[in-house]
Amino acid sequence: MSIALEQYIRTIQDFPKPGIGFKDITTLLKEPQPFREVIEQFAAHFAGRKVQKIVGIESRGFIFGAPLALKLNAGFVPARKPKKLPAATVREEYQLEYGTDALEIHADAIQAGENVLVIDDLLATGGTAAATSRLVEKLGGKVAGLGFLIELDFLNGRRHLSRYEVHSLIHVASE
Ligand code: AMP
Repeated sequence: MSIALEQYIRTIQDFPKPGIGFKDITTLLKEPQPFREVIEQFAAHFAGRKVQKIVGIESRGFIFGAPLALKLNAGFVPARKPKKLPAATVREEYQLEYGTDALEIHADAIQAGENVLVIDDLLATGGTAAATSRLVEKLGGKVAGLGFLIELDFLNGRRHLSRYEVHSLIHVASE
């Protein structure tokens, strides 16, 4: 029987700044049953997609992306903040509320034609996931889907990901 994952997520108001309701997943990670359930649910949904690589978005995307990669018999690729990766990289920038940020992956991490799944803990405005998807496509990879533990439906981040299949395990309807 599947566990209701919502009950393991803690919301911290006004973190890291006023007005933000921060979704804290550490309360889920510290319990083995819901942590395992997240991986099982992602694996059940994306099984059969012939996924060859999973791209986890720094940093909480690594926590779910790596065990899911093992479960799906896929490789794991970290998408990292600038200047963290040691070899040649490709980079994509995305908009923040004030200014821009960027993500990088190693240029040899994905082969042309590979089916790639993008994983993160949370979908908010969608800028981070859209930039990661562009990185995959820059290297010739095919975005087979995007998986999130939590989706903030009221921010409609999906509008930036309309070309892809987006699957979220928990939907938050309002702030
Ligand atoms: P976005 O690009 O707006 O979709 O933001 C997604 C990224 O920011 C993810 O990597 C999340 O971990 C983080 N994030 C954004 N909003 C929240 C929130 N309310 N609670 C926790 N993490 C968040």
